[in-house]
Amino acid sequence: MNAAIDRPRVVIIGAGFGGLTAAKALKNAPVDVTLIDRRNHHLFQPLLYQVATAGLAPNQIATPIRAIVRHQTNVNVELGTVEAIDAAKREVVLGERRVPYDYLIIATGARHAYFGHDEWERFAPGLKTLEDATDQRKRILLAFEHAELETDAEERKRLTTFVVIGGGPTGVETAGAIAELANKALARDYRHIDPKSARIVLVEAGARILGGFPADLSENARRSLEKLGVEVRLGDAVTQVDADGVMLGSERIASRSVIWAAGVQSSPAARWLNIPADRAGRAMIGGDLRAPGHNNIFVIGDCASVNGADGKPLPGVAPVAKQQGAYAARAIKAALEAETLDRPFAYFNVGNLATVGRKAAVADFGFVHLRGFIGWVLWSVAHIYFLIGFKNRIAVALDWVWSYLTFERGARLITGDIAEAQNAQAKERDAA
Ligand SMILES: Cc1cc2nc3c(=O)[nH]c(=O)nc-3n(C[C@H](O)[C@H](O)[C@H](O)COP(=O)(O)OP(=O)(O)OC[C@H]3O[C@@H](n4cnc5c(N)ncnc54)[C@H](O)[C@@H]3O)c2cc1C
Repeated sequence: MNAAIDRPRVVIIGAGFGGLTAAKALKNAPVDVTLIDRRNHHLFQPLLYQVATAGLAPNQIATPIRAIVRHQTNVNVELGTVEAIDAAKREVVLGERRVPYDYLIIATGARHAYFGHDEWERFAPGLKTLEDATDQRKRILLAFEHAELETDAEERKRLTTFVVIGGGPTGVETAGAIAELANKALARDYRHIDPKSARIVLVEAGARILGGFPADLSENARRSLEKLGVEVRLGDAVTQVDADGVMLGSERIASRSVIWAAGVQSSPAARWLNIPADRAGRAMIGGDLRAPGHNNIFVIGDCASVNGADGKPLPGVAPVAKQQGAYAARAIKAALEAETLDRPFAYFNVGNLATVGRKAAVADFGFVHLRGFIGWVLWSVAHIYFLIGFKNRIAVALDWVWSYLTFERGARLITGDIAEAQNAQAKERDAA
């Protein structure tokens, strides 16, 4: 697409929830939009745990970015990894390539963080990308395969012990899904082990799981997890993670499969712009979502720290990123008319949802708290509604109905080179 010479250029970095919403909101604006992402797909991260636990296939939760904006002729998609921003020249830097902008929206998100213990990552991978999810799926399924062949009882126990670190929504959902995988989908498929005897431990350093939810819903989620057979450890901070498991103070939980669902580190937007960042590296931004000192640069979503009405930073969730994307687009449209928006960004909380297994969830709408089966139906409808792509919605809905009725998990596939995976795990153990 050739840009019309006098049309302002809007560059958006990141086609996640925030960036994509901004691009769509600029549909009828007299601007040329360049949407840059280092991946060719938009990922529905809230369902990553289902890929990691063999419930859904990767293509059901990811859609090519080009396909999403196919009919929006003022958007040009570029694949590439942004490394820096030359704000003086108004250019985005991708290696040798430079992309000029008049307005810039940075929506590059965040990744998991290990509280200064990056060496834990290889033993306790986190969940952020499709590769992370398929890697975890492979680890979980291989653990059962290895246990089936193992003759040493201690090692078999270690192989069928799964430790999930972090009691936020991702940790809770992952722990519940592993329990259901072991108790239902795998239960009758092995001859030498009983998958139902797998031990699943959810470790949370705080006093309760789902700390962002009201206390009654946290308690309900804890009870639902325990009903599924998950051991919930509260007030226990992990002090060591290695190839043999985790340490909680002086107690060792022996495990070959540790999953990290705690801590967040922002992408380096603040560093690129040389502006203040919070402890998680998120750019500290005012209510106009503009980077301090850069009137034409907006920072949104998980890489921005913006205070809510209560004066506390808004949570790193999809609705915040989407609403900020829409706001940044509106601010750009206003600027084109030499106007400014009369109100700062205000987050409208649409509610918080987290599921615990295939028929229980908690939902917090402030004035009303839902739980159990009703919560789960609502969670399912919301997730299907927000998935991108009609085909994905139908496919996911059918898969969920099928697994609800049969307990089956359709994506129980170990892909990639198994010998390579086994060697890598053995090497990790030796190195430890
Ligand atoms: C496992 C998991 C479960 C979650 N569950 C929920 C949930 O249930 N409900 C909820 O509301 N939220 C949930 N979240 C949080 C939610 O996904 C995020 O808040 C949301 O994705 C933030 O949107 P964003 O646009 O800021 O960033 P993202 O959606 O992360 O998008 C960032 C984009 O930027 C791209 N990018 C990054 N760096 C570069 C670079 N240097 N160059 C080019 N491109 C780059 C990435 O490839 C990505 O496409 C979950 C997150 C995870 C990881």
